[in-house]
Amino acid sequence: MAQLFQFCPRCGAPDFSAVRPNLLVCGRCGFHYYLNPVVSATALVADPAGRLLLIRRAKAPASGKLAFPGGFIDFGETAEQAVRRELQEELGLEIVAQQYLTSHPNNYLYREVEYRVLDLFFAARVRGYEIRAEAAEVADYHWVAPEAIDPAELAFDSMRAALAACLAHQPFGKLNSL
Ligand SMILES: [Zn+2]
Repeated sequence: MAQLFQFCPRCGAPDFSAVRPNLLVCGRCGFHYYLNPVVSATALVADPAGRLLLIRRAKAPASGKLAFPGGFIDFGETAEQAVRRELQEELGLEIVAQQYLTSHPNNYLYREVEYRVLDLFFAARVRGYEIRAEAAEVADYHWVAPEAIDPAELAFDSMRAALAACLAHQPFGKLNSL
């Protein structure tokens, strides 16, 4: 990421370089630019039979791979709000109960820029199971028992970690009583 910046974005000087992997400093005007992780929020949604909702990604990165639904957190938004908004936008689903599950770092390659991401995962219950998928984001979707999900089919390492956390912690029993 640091090598993307050849010039100071404030004064335009070419003397703009990484003094640490996550900090660029301008030698002329002293501008500091920190590279921090982008944060995303993702839901592991279970149906009444305990199967998890997987979408097939319709766009890069990892187009055609399976994923848990979610997206990037907007400015001023909580992670809980972001995951509710994303499920409404992508799938027309309303979350009625959610519980933090785990987090995991991820690398997200988009238009030749590799973004460093922190993925936050929630276990979630929804009201109704009728899905209206947004075609630009979701090619198709499946409900699959957690133990039947092939980790190799998942889009990202962070989602493999979330599946492992789900299998280890079985969050949905507790979620039923919320
Ligand atoms: Zn500068």
